[in-house]
Amino acid sequence: MEIKPGLSALVTGAASGIGRAVSLALAEKGVFVTLADLSEEEGRETTSLVRKANAKFHPGISFPSATFVKCDVTNRGNLVIAFEKHLATYGTLDICINNAGIGNPVPFDKDDSDGSKSWKHTIDVNLVAVIECTHLAIEAMKSKQNPGVIINMGSAAGLYPMTFDPIYSASKGGVVLFTRSLAPYKRQGIRINVLCPEFTETNMGAKVHPVIIQSLGGFLPMDLLIKGIFELITDESKAGSCLWVTKRRGLEYWPTPMEEAKYLVGSSSRKRAPSFKVSSSFQLPQSSEKIIVHTLSHHFRDATRIVRTPLALPIGRDQVLLKIIYAGVNASDVNFSSGRYFSGNNKNQGSNLPFDAGFEGVGIIAAVGDSVRNVEVGTPAAVMTFGAYAEYMIVSSRHVLPVPRPDPEVVAMLTSGLTALIGLEKAGQMRSGETVLVTAAAGGTGQFAVQLAKLAGNKVVATCGGSDKAKLLKEMGVDRVINYKSEDIKTVLKKEFPKGIDIIYESVGGNMFDLCLNALAVHGRLIVIGMISQYQGEHGWKPANYPGLCEKILAKSQTVAGFFLVQYSQLWKHTLDRLFHLYSLGKLKVAIDPKRFMGLDAVADAVEHLHSGKSTGKVIVCIDPTFDQQTSRL
Ligand code: NAP
Repeated sequence: MEIKPGLSALVTGAASGIGRAVSLALAEKGVFVTLADLSEEEGRETTSLVRKANAKFHPGISFPSATFVKCDVTNRGNLVIAFEKHLATYGTLDICINNAGIGNPVPFDKDDSDGSKSWKHTIDVNLVAVIECTHLAIEAMKSKQNPGVIINMGSAAGLYPMTFDPIYSASKGGVVLFTRSLAPYKRQGIRINVLCPEFTETNMGAKVHPVIIQSLGGFLPMDLLIKGIFELITDESKAGSCLWVTKRRGLEYWPTPMEEAKYLVGSSSRKRAPSFKVSSSFQLPQSSEKIIVHTLSHHFRDATRIVRTPLALPIGRDQVLLKIIYAGVNASDVNFSSGRYFSGNNKNQGSNLPFDAGFEGVGIIAAVGDSVRNVEVGTPAAVMTFGAYAEYMIVSSRHVLPVPRPDPEVVAMLTSGLTALIGLEKAGQMRSGETVLVTAAAGGTGQFAVQLAKLAGNKVVATCGGSDKAKLLKEMGVDRVINYKSEDIKTVLKKEFPKGIDIIYESVGGNMFDLCLNALAVHGRLIVIGMISQYQGEHGWKPANYPGLCEKILAKSQTVAGFFLVQYSQLWKHTLDRLFHLYSLGKLKVAIDPKRFMGLDAVADAVEHLHSGKSTGKVIVCIDPTFDQQTSRL
């Protein structure tokens, strides 16, 4: 649902705190608001602020752009009046935010009363009233045949126990599972979601001990909370969804698709649950091989060599030892080997030598430190830290991501898949109903970009060099494949897309970048993913000069947005779960290049293969060819 002027919302607990902030944020978008609250003075004050905020959208209307209703949410009669008043004033109900909530006033064990200070009253406000309001909102939406969005206010305390207020935790836990169970209302067009924020700086938040707030990294900024609410309103796919909002990590859906797959009967992911046994005769090796960069050069083969080094055992308390089974090959391996990933001027980049090569891998955990809890020996896991061209890696447990299986497809989803999804959504601001062009589309990351753009509801155009690649892209659902070996890209784009392309996922650079920029529509976004054609010039990568770039993008309100995956690490885990989920549902395919590369010896061949332009899909090296998919040979 697009939040736009003329929609109407009812917000409970709207006089202060989160309710007030949400009401104002909706009003800033021109939404009419009914503010229901027990506190008359604050309620009327907030209502006048809300009227000021949305009045400019509705000059000359004969009814108030915001309405206050005094309402005790524990009183069904009061609630009925609030909803009736809303419908009488605004005709329909588009958005309902069931926000009213309180902390339990006295410690649970000291509370034996029955009145308004009892724990039962807290449950009535926080849970029973939310159920009641959800019921009334559904009725209101159905009666006007106007399905909308309902958001119930949960809390992080509804996901994790809050030992200093068990009643609050119980009530919010109830709200979370109540709301998640309402997902099927989506079939009737009504989307009901729950938001679980940590403490914000409101009257309620101010009562929490500062040490607790500090342990959470400070109060949750209100604008992040509002962002969460708006996402639940606007994203049509969200129904029965629980959005957890923390200052530390931003917006995360709960549970992750992988967690969810564990308890959904008949889920395809369930069948893929990890089942790796560690051979009883296994002993940790004393040493292992890895690839290091010894000389800075964009010729990967010349820059690197294989070395055997002792494993620093025992590993640290929070570290794990990962046995790598498959490593992913990336276009940027040659940039890494030429020192481009280190800041500083060209002269002192050599001071980092030697350093470990390889960006990503999957394998099996072979040993864990004493304090590690997130993985155990035998867990399949992925890493996206430098040094993955190795038989074994010692890494902090925080840097390993448990995965369903140590498969080539999982490696492909790491750098390549994450770049596509995060790049399109964050840098490209991908929505639906637009035209998306992907260059080098049959490559490691391009294959994900075309499918994700298609899944989001866009028309997809893709470029590639070769008929096998074109066939693969057609099978992946691309609407128009341009094989530049048989067609001229510029001519096709000019003729078939005269209005231009809305989003371009560009990773080739050079002439292709120029061509793409000229093909960009008004308001178009060109995402600079890379410039593979420039990485291996005779003297290495020469930065390009684009005279007239500012003039071009100014004239058409266009955006040229850079994207570098390492700067989005906070989104990796959640995004990876989304990719696994799509893959487990069969909605996302993963193409692996058919050429087999076995062992660390083959890594340089694999890097050169990727840069030959002949690869299709993700190029992978099997680091441990003895791995048999059943029992990990650690
Ligand atoms: P890839 O797409 O698998 O790369 C191979 C493909 O690129 C080739 O099949 C070829 O496709 C094209 N290509 C190769 N050499 C070329 C050349 N000299 N001139 C023109 N095209 C050439 O590789 P990848 O690892 O997935 O990387 C693709 C791009 O994404 C690179 O630019 C890489 O740096 C970038 N990337 C960026 C990020 C980030 O965070 N920004 C992350 C990952 C990857 P066609 O001939 O069929 O077009």
